Amino acid sequence: MGGEDARHPIRARLSAASANPRPGRARRRAEPRLPPPNGRLLAARPPRPSANRRRVSPFPHRGRLSSSSSSVRRRQEAAAMAQAKQCRRLEPGLARSVLAGVEAVLFDCDGVLWRGEAAVPGAAEALGRLAAEGGAEGGRRRLLCYVTNNSSRTRGAYVEKLRRLGFPPAEPRQVFGSAYCAARYLRRALPPGAAAYVLGGAALSAELEAAGVAHLGAGPEAAAAAPEQEASAAQPPPGSRAPLDPSVRAVLVGYDEHFSYAKLCLALRYLLRGDGDCLLVGTNRDHRLPLEGGSAVPGTGCLVKAVETAAEREAFIIGKPSDYIFECVANEFNIDPARTIMVGDRLDTDILMGNNCGLKTLLTLTGVTTLEEVKDHLKSDCPKRKNLVPDYYVDSIADLLPALQD
Ligand SMILES: [Mg+2]
Repeated sequence: MGGEDARHPIRARLSAASANPRPGRARRRAEPRLPPPNGRLLAARPPRPSANRRRVSPFPHRGRLSSSSSSVRRRQEAAAMAQAKQCRRLEPGLARSVLAGVEAVLFDCDGVLWRGEAAVPGAAEALGRLAAEGGAEGGRRRLLCYVTNNSSRTRGAYVEKLRRLGFPPAEPRQVFGSAYCAARYLRRALPPGAAAYVLGGAALSAELEAAGVAHLGAGPEAAAAAPEQEASAAQPPPGSRAPLDPSVRAVLVGYDEHFSYAKLCLALRYLLRGDGDCLLVGTNRDHRLPLEGGSAVPGTGCLVKAVETAAEREAFIIGKPSDYIFECVANEFNIDPARTIMVGDRLDTDILMGNNCGLKTLLTLTGVTTLEEVKDHLKSDCPKRKNLVPDYYVDSIADLLPALQD
């Protein structure tokens, strides 16, 4: 394992910090790193006329922010490791061998544990056995965590849904939703007294509230505050004249059923204000939410893209495949990536994050991905496509049951 760690920077960093790999026992690591505040500029953006002006960090009290070069290097090394991934079916014999070395299992939820309000058949029983069985080196209970890009539910709502559908009891600290992790990020990134302008709903607002992050704009009220009007030469577009709150230092974009031109206009005005040092943060980039029967609705990624396009800036993304959300998990439980498996149904979020962070990865075919898509990636010579290939796959998470029988 040591040689493998040396090749993988995240594994090496977390292994070195883990004197005792047992989940929840070891001392917590420092909070996840903070990314550069302004994101990378989109390629189409022309040079700023103010480029020669002295740039002042918006958060000087936070010290030096991490550079993007280390992130690029980490991804290059992870992509090189991904070349060896073969997407093997996790048959019972192989499953027993793999799970013997796993002490933490991270689950995506939609498409893996449930579809809508119906649990995937056998999933609850499989998780019950996974949680009850000893983890790596036997005798220790395995840690289960739930890592989801969905920002429309609070951690408490996920705990309740797990209970309602018969899954093993979970605590809120085992749930890492993009709403909670965004609040955790802003709590650290914003200077004292600063607030966030939020495109999002009640769950995102509740998580910000719980984290003590001042915010405004969430829900239908802000849209209603901008009077409906026809855009014309005589009347300015909605949101273009509304007063700006001087305390706003970040724009946070999540799932917002009340997204409107007025809100987009306000978000852009905050991002353009002053020296352009207002943070732009998105909960996730999922651009489509699948529905039963093959239909779909637009996801948060569409709203993030709208704000990015208007602002000519790239948002910092909290959810998968960003490694920030994994670092939140690793920080909370001090888990060892080499003894952790990510289970998901999407290649470009769940599996990519797992591969980027040095985890074992398991694809379930109960969600949005087909085995044919994986085979196409396997045949490709493109390193980016190879990085979407999981270590293993099962038709359903319930397929693990035979390997978990006494
Ligand atoms: Mg999913």
